[in-house]
Amino acid sequence: MPRWGMVIDLRRCIGCNACTVACKAENEVPLGVWRTHVRYYEKGRYPHVKRHFFPILCDHCEEAPCIEASENNGVGSFYKTDDGIVLIDYKKLEKRTPAQIKTEAKAAIEACPLEAVFVNPLTNLPEKCTFCSHRVEKGLVPACVQTCIGRARVFGDISDRKSVAAKLIASNPTRTMMPADDGGGSGVYYIGLDAAHIDYEALKGGRQIDPKDFDNDIISQNTGPVFKGWTPNTPVNHGK
Ligand code: SF4
Ligand code: SF4
Repeated sequence: MPRWGMVIDLRRCIGCNACTVACKAENEVPLGVWRTHVRYYEKGRYPHVKRHFFPILCDHCEEAPCIEASENNGVGSFYKTDDGIVLIDYKKLEKRTPAQIKTEAKAAIEACPLEAVFVNPLTNLPEKCTFCSHRVEKGLVPACVQTCIGRARVFGDISDRKSVAAKLIASNPTRTMMPADDGGGSGVYYIGLDAAHIDYEALKGGRQIDPKDFDNDIISQNTGPVFKGWTPNTPVNHGK
């Protein structure tokens, strides 16, 4: 059984947002919400200024807070596959009332430290990154990886030491967004995500959508403090 995971090498990301666009096209993600996007921020003062790019998506957490919240809500539509992908079982929402679906979505949205869950304004259903599981099942990589012009995103079986993704994790210092002491672990490993590279305070102020654009009071991506689970002290895996 594979353990799917993604490595994102921040040193290679050029901030082109091709991943964001490919994801939207592949998964028909409407305007105003995202399954993955790239945050930009600048560090330094003129003339010594650098722009950094930071792609984010669902971490496919080892012990996912969204799953726990969904179970506590009594619906349990969020689940993790045996190969490590966190998905939503829409069959479990079919016979639910709009109010129950809203409560389920709200529970997951509030639980997710990365604001990776949103309500699709067209379907009114909760949604999130699936690692393009429909493509992975057919032996393809996620759309964001397929399109990544900088080859910053690498996807593969991280339990297979021969996979490129596993080799990258083994040979580079990596960080995950979820801290280990929060029951963390993750399916997304960053190379180059460190206290020196990431300006946590700048990231906290990031915002991509105005939730008032929609008549739906639980679209909440980027409305609160982002990256609740991550601090510059998040442990580093130093490779082997
Ligand atoms: S990042 Fe958020 S949506 Fe993804 S598995 Fe973790 S808690 Fe769930
Ligand atoms: S497609 Fe690749 S290089 Fe471009 S922004 Fe996304 S992760 Fe970075």
